[in-house]
Amino acid sequence: MKIKYNYHTHTKRCGHAIGNDEDYVINAIKAGYKILGFSDHAPYIIPKKGERMNYEQYDEYISSIKELKEKYKDDIEILIGVELEYYPSQMEDLLRYRKELDYCILGQHEQEINGRSNYNLSKPYELLEYADSIEKACDMGLADIVAHPDIFMFSYPKWDKYCTQATETIIDACKRNNIPFELNCGGIKYGKLIYKDGDRYAYPNKKVFEIVANKKCPVILGHDTHDPSHFLNEYWVNTTLEIVKDYDLNIIESYNIKEEANKRKEKLFNK
Ligand SMILES: [Zn+2]
Ligand SMILES: [Zn+2]
Repeated sequence: MKIKYNYHTHTKRCGHAIGNDEDYVINAIKAGYKILGFSDHAPYIIPKKGERMNYEQYDEYISSIKELKEKYKDDIEILIGVELEYYPSQMEDLLRYRKELDYCILGQHEQEINGRSNYNLSKPYELLEYADSIEKACDMGLADIVAHPDIFMFSYPKWDKYCTQATETIIDACKRNNIPFELNCGGIKYGKLIYKDGDRYAYPNKKVFEIVANKKCPVILGHDTHDPSHFLNEYWVNTTLEIVKDYDLNIIESYNIKEEANKRKEKLFNK
């Protein structure tokens, strides 16, 4: 199966991606993609240098992608979104992005605990709060994809019953709201890391995808591209698929993300 879409694409505005916007488009076309969604890290009040774009870059981001959308309209469909986190204290921004953009993906890299941002989830209560945030964002209608939900295994030391509980909470929220669970190719770039339970890639996580397969949750492939050349190199996708090859995953071949986003927006804003 050759996937013809990618909804998880960054730009250099976030501070840790490279290349020009147009190179992402040109390479996606060369790689045979029919839909390219940009989803750079959205700006927030909580500052994080090198992790997300600034407020001042937001309008220019939109206008740059709109220009490319028009320029390449005969070759590829381009959509404009952001990757956001569920931060209760940033709700005004979250709702604005939700309203203005074609779609939003939820990449909960950090967890707001007692009003403070926490990057390294290592304790059970932090992990359960993380799952709870994702659940809230999904139920509220903020997310059209749950990006790399298994990123918690980047910092969580060892699989335990709380990992199972958190994973089940996230999967159930995805299924209830018809939101695909992302199989993310971005974890490969860190290489294999050493953990208490052995060497492994930070994500995708096998145990997580075993539960995803058992619960028959819809899965979407996401490149999480931070470098235009990745579209032309099958290593990222192939290595990701290799990790989960033992599971019978329901990887969707197409997803009308804009239409689904519009339905969710309708529910969120016109209650
Ligand atoms: Zn990133
Ligand atoms: Zn991302």
